[in-house]
Amino acid sequence: MMDLQLPQGLGQATLAWAVAAVCLGALTRNDPSRPLRLARWALAAQTAAWACAWAAQTTAGWVLGVLALVCASAGHYLLLLGLRGWLGRRPGRDVLFLLCVLSPVGQALAFAHEGLRLVWPATALALQWGLVALAACWTSRKPYAGPWRHLLAAAYGVVAVLALLPVLGPAVGVEPWTPHANALALGVAALAGQALAVATLAGIMAAWRREVEVRLELQAHTDPLTELNNRWGWLKHAKGVMAQAQRQEWAVAVLILDLDHFKRVNDTHGHGVGDQALTVLGQTIKQCIRESDVPGRLGGEEFVLLLPQIDLAGAQALDQRLRAQFRSASQATLGMELNFSSGLAFCEFSKGSTLKNALRQADDCMYQAKSLGRGRLFFNPDPNGKAPTC
Ligand code: GH3
Ligand code: MG
Ligand code: MG
Repeated sequence: MMDLQLPQGLGQATLAWAVAAVCLGALTRNDPSRPLRLARWALAAQTAAWACAWAAQTTAGWVLGVLALVCASAGHYLLLLGLRGWLGRRPGRDVLFLLCVLSPVGQALAFAHEGLRLVWPATALALQWGLVALAACWTSRKPYAGPWRHLLAAAYGVVAVLALLPVLGPAVGVEPWTPHANALALGVAALAGQALAVATLAGIMAAWRREVEVRLELQAHTDPLTELNNRWGWLKHAKGVMAQAQRQEWAVAVLILDLDHFKRVNDTHGHGVGDQALTVLGQTIKQCIRESDVPGRLGGEEFVLLLPQIDLAGAQALDQRLRAQFRSASQATLGMELNFSSGLAFCEFSKGSTLKNALRQADDCMYQAKSLGRGRLFFNPDPNGKAPTC
């Protein structure tokens, strides 16, 4: 009967990385983003690295040991690039690159020395794992950042410390290159390798899930035609700005724009041209506003702007700029000059005014502008000569 032997130690670690790589590929088959693709390659490289380390146990040559470090280094660098894609710039990228080059070279040189043969890769890998841990836990303001990065940081931090044990052997009373210490180090490495495969898979899956959530939320809040906020996205952002404005006692204006005779554009030139007109107005808005303003498409051919820290003269000037630019852009792009009617309202927090009041007032004003002949801005003049309020 055939004598079946289950893989031990490094063989089990190889299996764990292979399963992790296959699971990640299978579970994220649809819609992989760039960071996810990098992470997939990282797992494949780690599988190859552990397989080489496993095979190197039974072969006396140095090639497999060096190859194992080449693959492991490539895997760590790819993982760091993936983290960079999700979390933004990470510290230690250049240092990791240098380490990734030096690690296999050092291994080739250290092979002749019985002790260094184990101590060198342990040190090199500990430093690489430490840098991956640093990259994962380094602060990030990106929307994809989440608890998953702490899981990765903890896992890579722990194995970095474990890997240093053979190096610190003499300091903790263990001779680093006795057969017993070598066997112990390999056993710990194999266990740590398996745990790291599980933690890496879990961390990457959680990062991908977060990425998909953020992308879906963005889609749900964005108008696909103009790429401005849709009604829900605008309300969400506007509420945040209103809360800040209330705290800082800023003046806030709401400006509503509605394209004039838009049905006629559709009826005469077709919906394609109508869509182009909406896109041109969306672009015009993006070009004319400040970064702190909140633009949105409320629906159909109606757009809205929330304008914090603005006075009446500023709002009127913005309306004029928008109008002039839209007229010339529509003429240049569509061969016809289009215009809009607009209504303006200011919020006065001391009088308990809300976003809802401001929207209603600006909408009423916009309809007044329509009834006065279109192509103009309307606002309710304040009896004290101040900004119109709601
Ligand atoms: P007014 O000057 O009084 O605002 O008249 P109007 O024709 O602009 O307004 P009306 O409400 O009569 O017509 C709006 C049209 O906008 C009707 C609708 O088919 C069209 N519309 C709404 N959404 C879209 C869109 O996404 N693309 C296109 N091409 N047309 C749209
Ligand atoms: Mg209209
Ligand atoms: Mg309308």
